Amino acid sequence: MMVNQADPGLVEALADATERALREAETRLPPDVLAALRRAAAAETNGIARQELGNILENIALAGERGLPICQDTGVPVVYLSLPPEIPFSPALFEGVREGVRRATAAIPLRPNAVDPITRQNTGDNTGAGMPPIHVVPGERFTVTVLPKGAGSENVSRIGMLLPSQAAGIPEFVAETMLIAGGRPCPPVILGVGIGGTFDAAAALAKEALLLPADTMDKYEQELCDAVNALGIGPMGLGGDVTALAVKVKRAACHTASLPVAVNVQCWASRRASVEVRL
Ligand code: SF4
Repeated sequence: MMVNQADPGLVEALADATERALREAETRLPPDVLAALRRAAAAETNGIARQELGNILENIALAGERGLPICQDTGVPVVYLSLPPEIPFSPALFEGVREGVRRATAAIPLRPNAVDPITRQNTGDNTGAGMPPIHVVPGERFTVTVLPKGAGSENVSRIGMLLPSQAAGIPEFVAETMLIAGGRPCPPVILGVGIGGTFDAAAALAKEALLLPADTMDKYEQELCDAVNALGIGPMGLGGDVTALAVKVKRAACHTASLPVAVNVQCWASRRASVEVRL
């Protein structure tokens, strides 16, 4: 079915899907993140850290039961749209998502976090120039994926333009990012690491890595995670074995003279949800 670009039904369907995705993401953590948190709580040897992980798990359970946001910082919505061939790329896609963000902000409700970067004037509905960021990718199904991103963890994210000879130093760069961050990003964190591409592509890869399952890691990701956990920062920075639940890596080819590495820090409230758009 080819959809008419002017079809108001498309805007409405996308607004509805975006609102549903945000409600799900803000009130219930994905099962893989929950599993990683439970595993961390079971493995933690530090008593205070174990207690803190217990508080976090209780907070998550209460939010789910009551349909309330998991954290007071409901973040800014980062949106990924998956478009099958029959859905044309059109301005209606952007309008639908923005309308869904406005509705979610009023209905859930979400904290209005979006401001002008210089005047700091708040738009009141979590939209604004370039907000929400919307990434469009081809796919088999028409879906909207939301990743609400809190400021505490986003603010300590970091990018480095390393030398090509510094590939072996990537674990140190990743661990150093958390050493600088300390307890500020509400650990235990999940780190999205983008390696390669260009300056901007590495940051985009790091964000996309946060969409990957948090309860599995390959050998390299485990090596990075071990380097971070050796810091002993622990849950909420109070000390402990678990500083990172997971490190997830996405790579891209890069210039022979470059090695961009971006670390997007995500807090324990690693919120994301995908919803199919019903047309
Ligand atoms: S960093 Fe995460 S858990 Fe901490 S206040 Fe921000 S959104 Fe909430």
